[in-house]
Amino acid sequence: MNGSFRYLTKSRFTLAMECPTKLFYTGKAEYANSRSDDSFLEALADGGFQVGELARRYFPGGVSVDTLAYEDALRQTDELMKRPSVVLFEPAFRFENLFIRADILVKDGNSLQLIEVKAKSWNSREPDSFFTKKGNIFSGWKPYIYDVAFQTYVLRNALPGFEVEPFLMMADKSALCPTDGLNQKIRIRLGKDDRKRVEIYGDLTPDDLSSRILVQVPVGDCVDAVLAGSVDDFSDGFETAVSNLASEYQRDSKIVTQPGKRCRSCEFRCTPEEKAEGKRSGFEECWKNAFQLSDEEFNVPSVLNVWQFRRKDECLGEGRWRIGEITEDDIPKDPEAGSGLSMKQRQWLQIEKMVAGDNMPFLDKEGLKAEMESWTFPLHFIDFETAMPAIPFNSGRHPYEGIAFQFSHHVVEEDGSVRHQGQFIETEPGVFPNYRFLRALKNELENDDGTIFRYAAHENTFLGHIARQLEDDSSPPDDALELLGFIRKITEWDDENGKRIEGSRNMVDMLRLVKLYYYDPAMGGSNSIKYVLPAILNSSPFLQQKYEQPIYGAKGGIPSLNYQDWCWVRFDKGRVLDPYSLLPRIFEDMASEEMEQFVTGDEEIREGGAAMMAWAKVQFSDMSTLERKKISEALLKYCELDTLAMVMIYEGWRKLCA
Ligand code: SF4
Repeated sequence: MNGSFRYLTKSRFTLAMECPTKLFYTGKAEYANSRSDDSFLEALADGGFQVGELARRYFPGGVSVDTLAYEDALRQTDELMKRPSVVLFEPAFRFENLFIRADILVKDGNSLQLIEVKAKSWNSREPDSFFTKKGNIFSGWKPYIYDVAFQTYVLRNALPGFEVEPFLMMADKSALCPTDGLNQKIRIRLGKDDRKRVEIYGDLTPDDLSSRILVQVPVGDCVDAVLAGSVDDFSDGFETAVSNLASEYQRDSKIVTQPGKRCRSCEFRCTPEEKAEGKRSGFEECWKNAFQLSDEEFNVPSVLNVWQFRRKDECLGEGRWRIGEITEDDIPKDPEAGSGLSMKQRQWLQIEKMVAGDNMPFLDKEGLKAEMESWTFPLHFIDFETAMPAIPFNSGRHPYEGIAFQFSHHVVEEDGSVRHQGQFIETEPGVFPNYRFLRALKNELENDDGTIFRYAAHENTFLGHIARQLEDDSSPPDDALELLGFIRKITEWDDENGKRIEGSRNMVDMLRLVKLYYYDPAMGGSNSIKYVLPAILNSSPFLQQKYEQPIYGAKGGIPSLNYQDWCWVRFDKGRVLDPYSLLPRIFEDMASEEMEQFVTGDEEIREGGAAMMAWAKVQFSDMSTLERKKISEALLKYCELDTLAMVMIYEGWRKLCA
């Protein structure tokens, strides 16, 4: 067999478990694939590379099978497996047309421990169950368990004389990091010779490894249930399923499946730019083929577009793919009751506008006005940037413990005047920023009783995290009680009986207001602020006229801490450009050129992933002061726009309600 043999590997098997049709599109350059661009970024952001490396350090003396070539890796593994006991990293095994590289394999005589390392949290004090009441694997665990099951199957068949025990190794949320700076010691850079290869460098001391923050969890029961075909996904037998997938993949034939709700996040979709470059869209091929669609029909809005619609699979299964084919049996209509849209009313609003081609925004003026009357000026708009690193930066911290490293704060006065009031960023390496962050936020907000706005649950959730950190701290700061009191005042939480408690100045969630009172067809099925902002800018002449002027950060204009004479509204082909697209890329002109290899655009920072990664990067102490400063400046600009976006939405509404 040569290197081009089409093996079903563990990653292809995992992909096929999402949708078997994907096996046909994967690895083919002619098909657009949004995941191929960001899988490296994702692994960096979720700490996958670092967790993998730390796991290896727990097995001193382990031997790495380094080559990527299949046959060489198999030969090297074969040779090493002749030792009576050995720990191997990335050993290769083959059974028929199945091929795996195990993360860690511990051989002791005839016993093998198969360890799959994942950047996922586990709490060894309160372990999760993998099984549902019906004996299936919980959907959140399926990708991990199925992956190990596949490897166990290959290993047991490739080495029939051995006992194979499967494990997942994950970050233990209840473990404490033994030393400071552990995260910074496991560094990542792209290989110099091979741009796709990752190099990990940095030394760990015995103290760093003295207490483990990764835990090895036995998963033999689940794997046996999967291999025995006793879970629904493999009710025809695991062996049959794997063998079918492997032979179809080997023949390069497409396994045609019924489109479903999973298609919404399919990575084999084309952007208009990719289309113009001649890329093919797997999504388009699947849908055109399944529903016999012409080019024109393919562009008709589908049931996938409807917000929170739970019967997508049923509709698609019956061939009803158009948004206009949704009936009242699918979404029973709610009677009009009071102000504010119910979920069903909002869904019908979206469906009816899309079917009619009506692009006019909807605003429940009465409902929103009533909310506005309860607000107290000055209004405060806040947004946090946070991280939950798998490997902590500080001793005494847990894996995946929250780090709040940045906020931005805008104020709107009763006369309508706006200012960027304040901000916070901590980029000093190794400093645990949360208490300083909280103190700075308190300083910003405690000077009046004005209403505070957040967008979605994140700020509330994170303040809850910091409250728990303060409560659990064995040497809390002197002002811990004051800080806790501040958090309680501006947040909401469930008490021990599950009753919702609201602080006296509980933050107002703008996302809740959007869902209740505002819908613009340009938002599609999303209520994310990243969709609401461009939509309202395009529909509000008031916002366009105001922000078309270079007033932002200008003398006599809107005070800003990071911009000067900036105009936010710029047009292209008659549409207002998304303000985020006007910002410079965060890693542009960085001395550290490797970062540019995988930070491909602004999309990532908009979703917060790159902000977190940028912060993680500035934690590395060998970064130059200039480079750290540049990243900080870019982060400050992005976060300022996040709170300005909330202000603009408020201003647009206020004008419409006037
Ligand atoms: S479009 Fe749907 S059916 Fe086709 S590959 Fe993607 S997820 Fe599978």
